Formats: sequence, structure tokens, C-alpha cells
Amino acid sequence: MPEWQPAQLVAAHDETATARSLVFDIPGWPGHLAGQHVDVRVTAPDGYTASREYSIASGEVDAAPSGLGASGVNVELSVEELDDGEVSPYLVRGLDIGDHLEIRGPVGGYFVWTAAQTEPVQLIAGGSGVVPLMSMLRTHAAAGHPSPMRLLYSVRGPQFAFYTDELRRLVDSSKGSLTVDYAFTREAPSGADRSIGRLMRDELEMLTVPVASSPTTYLCGPNSFVEGISGWLVELGHPASRILTERFGGA
Ligand SMILES: Cc1cc2nc3c(=O)[nH]c(=O)nc-3n(C[C@H](O)[C@H](O)[C@H](O)COP(=O)(O)OP(=O)(O)OC[C@H]3O[C@@H](n4cnc5c(N)ncnc54)[C@H](O)[C@@H]3O)c2cc1C
Repeated sequence: MPEWQPAQLVAAHDETATARSLVFDIPGWPGHLAGQHVDVRVTAPDGYTASREYSIASGEVDAAPSGLGASGVNVELSVEELDDGEVSPYLVRGLDIGDHLEIRGPVGGYFVWTAAQTEPVQLIAGGSGVVPLMSMLRTHAAAGHPSPMRLLYSVRGPQFAFYTDELRRLVDSSKGSLTVDYAFTREAPSGADRSIGRLMRDELEMLTVPVASSPTTYLCGPNSFVEGISGWLVELGHPASRILTERFGGA
């Protein structure tokens, strides 16, 4: 397990009214792959500590060849505030530029995408589950990767969606290799061609890379979302071994 490292907040911006992206400078960061996460530890003035896991939103960063860590590299996380949460409200509203906390990572070698992969990729996000998938999209775009990568993003409404402008730009400059579809569950923009509501099995078939194209699927979100969607994907004929999942917790 990697050691805890001091991390300084060097930039931040709101993603939505309840979510914030945080950019940390972590001296000696060893690099990471798209899809990995970190442990974040915060310490109260009385010494009480709490730690939670957060996915890395920034694209892949190579380790420095010397093994001393990548220098001048920032790591971005995006955090959704839970009303009754212990750590997320502090990360979204309590942390100022220049503040420090501790980060340990990167963690996880299973839920990753690398540019060496040539098969079509289907990304499916529920809410803040889009964060590690954004790392994959950014890595794909930075590599100018030619193989298709498609994101299906289930979110309450447009005002709750992360990375909206950047996703549009990535799609526009991808020469057709990136596609983004939204499934708004409670509120949709006027003129939307899909009615609001949760993703359903038949729709999943229409909005995802077909089984015949042998995609790898990366699925991330709350427990119940991941359970439901992964079950339907298997029913639709996707081999379970090609469906990689990351669960953020919750109902
Ligand atoms: C691998 C991994 C990566 C993650 N990446 C991200 C990320 O990129 N961005 C992000 O915002 N969160 C992410 N999470 C969730 C994050 O770790 C915390 O669980 C979340 O921020 C809540 O922490 P908290 O201390 O505010 O709430 P807590 O005090 O831990 O919990 C408060 C209440 O919320 C419930 N709860 C806990 N987690 C969730 C959840 N995810 N959804 C709904 N209800 C929940 C609890 O059961 C409890 O009732 C990730 C989780 C995992 C396991």
C-alpha cells in the first residue's frame, strides 16, 4: 500500500451547485492510470481523522523514469456533496486554495483503461460515477486514440452533470471516435428527444456499443445503479468478464 503524502489544493471550480473539482499538487506523485482512485485523509484541529476514496478525474500520468515520481503534476478529483456526509461537505465547501490534506495512491489496477487497448469501449456512468470515466475520456483524447469510446451518462438533470463543456469539446475534436449520450432521470432540457426517467434495459441496448462489436464496458456509480445495469448487460449478451464495475456506495 502506498504511503500517505501531503497534497496542497492549488485550484478548484464548481462542477454543479453541489459538486466541486479539486486540483492537488502532490510532490513525488508516482503517476496513475485512467480509472484509478486515491484515498483522501482529512484531519480535524483536535486530531480526529477520516478517510474516503475518490476517483482520479485527470488523465493518465506516466511515472517518472527515475522512480522519484512525476514532478509538476497535478491530480484532479471531483466530489459530490452528500447532505449528511462527513467528508464530502468539507471537500466541496470547506477546503480553501493553499490548504493541505493527505492523499494515498494511486489505488486499483482492475478498473483501468490504457491506450494500448484497441477494442471499442462503452463507458456508463451514474451521477458522480462519471469521474473515473472522465479520466479515460481525457486519456483517450490526449492520445488521439482512434478506437471508439462511447459514454452513456445517467444524471438527474443537465444542471447536475459534470464536465459538460469539456465533454462537448472532446466530442467535437475527436473526429468521430468519442460519443456522449445523456439519460436525464428527473429533468431534461427543452427539446430533448428522450423522455426523462431511469435507463431501462431496451434503451440500454440502443444506446450502447453492440455485443457484436465485442466492447469492454466500464460501469461506475451508486451500488444499485451498477447492480441493475450490469445485470441487464449480461442479459443482453455481454460476457460478464468484459463488464468492469466500480461502486461508489450508497443505496
Ligand atoms: C472507489 C471509490 C471511488 C469513489 N470516487 C468518488 C468520486 O470520484 N466522487 C465522489 O463524489 N464520490 C466518490 N466515492 C464516494 C466517496 O468515497 C464517499 O463515499 C462519499 O464522498 C461520501 O462520503 P461522506 O463522508 O461525505 O459520507 P458518509 O459520512 O460516509 O456517509 C453519509 C451517508 O451517505 C451514504 N453514502 C455514502 N457514500 C455514498 C455514495 N457514494 N452515494 C450515496 N450515498 C452514500 C452513507 O451510507 C451514509 O448514509 C467513491 C467511492 C469509492 C468506493
